[in-house]
Order: sequence, then structure tokens, then C-alpha cells
Amino acid sequence: MSKISCNVIGDLLPLYVDGAVSEDTKKLVEEHLAECADCKKAAEDMRKELVLPVHETVRAAETSFLQKMKKTWQKRRIRTAVISVAVTIGLVFGIYMALILPEWTIPYDPNMIYVEELDEGRCVMVSYAGGRHCSSYGYMGEDGYYLYATHNLWTAYIEPLFYKTRPEDCQITTILDEENVSKIYYGEFDKGLDGYSLYGQEDEMQKQTHLIWTRDEVMP
Ligand SMILES: [Zn+2]
Repeated sequence: MSKISCNVIGDLLPLYVDGAVSEDTKKLVEEHLAECADCKKAAEDMRKELVLPVHETVRAAETSFLQKMKKTWQKRRIRTAVISVAVTIGLVFGIYMALILPEWTIPYDPNMIYVEELDEGRCVMVSYAGGRHCSSYGYMGEDGYYLYATHNLWTAYIEPLFYKTRPEDCQITTILDEENVSKIYYGEFDKGLDGYSLYGQEDEMQKQTHLIWTRDEVMP
């Protein structure tokens, strides 16, 4: 068996310590180390001081880096999710408010706003032929009833796209005979003059509204 020089072993040692040599080389190196105290010591030193500590440090650094990245990534993912949910809620709420909140009076149109006497005149129903309205506002005066209905973006434009209006949806209000109403006025009456509400000022309210129904006087 040929003797291998310490120089050759010295060249191979880093690879050997790293475990990056073939079985044959490993066997050769080990055979040499078994006989050569100098190279054996060199190999041990290399293992202790150089190779292993470096590997462990690198591995530890990699692990902690990966863990940090993982934590950061998880935090970021949670933050992104929370922000997305908040933005979505805000957006939906904003769209909802924009569709629901702004109301405008449905203008008087004799073909659209109509009055029916029901139950042999025991009640009077005011309806809107255009389907569902948003809200209605009424004021019971001395002998007249003042009212108007409103639309918002939802009832005016969105709902009609998919909702089929039923006859009962058209109803704005029903006034019973006991309420002793002889006249019904339709129109926006609470805007007021000079910023004051018209409640109670029936003369002014009549000027700003339309008389849409008068009770026939029943002869005794
Ligand atoms: Zn040697």
C-alpha cells in the first residue's frame, strides 16, 4: 500500500471533515489519520474550531432568520387581512349610506299619485303608481291631510331592476274616515319659508302643495 503524504491528506482534510469525500477517499484519510498523529490533530482541530462552529452558527442564523421572516410574514398577513376586512366593511357601509341616505321628494304627477276611496268611503288610500317609495311624511291639519313621499337611489334605481312591485307596495298612506279629513294635499311642505317649518301654517302649506282629493259632502 502506497503511503500518502501529509500534504495530500492536508489538502483532503477540509473535504473529509465536511463529509464531502467518497468512501475510498474517506478510507484512505482514516487509514492515514490512524497512523499520523499530526494529521489526526489537524483533523480534530479543524472539526472543533473551524467546521462545526461555522456550520452551527450559519444554521442558527438561518433558522432565526427564517423564523423571523415567518413571524413577520404572519404578522403582515394578519395585518393585511384586518385592513382588507375593514376597508371592505367601510366600502359596503359607504355605498349603503350613499344609496339609502339622500332622499328627495317624488314630485306631484296626477298620473303617478292617485287617491282611492275604499270600504264604501270609510277610508282613503293615497298611492304612488311608480312602485315602492322610500319614506312618506304626513301632517294632519285642521281638516286637511298633507303628505309627500320620497325616493332614494335604492328605491328609485336599484330595486326596480330586480323587484317586481306588488299593488300593496304602491300605497303611501291610508286615512280613516274617523280622522275627519275632508281634503288631501300632496307636496313637500316642511321646507318652510325663510327656513321656518310650515307645520301649523296651513295657508302657506296649501300654497306649496297640490290639492289631490276632496271629500264629497254626503247629504243627510
Ligand atoms: Zn500525516
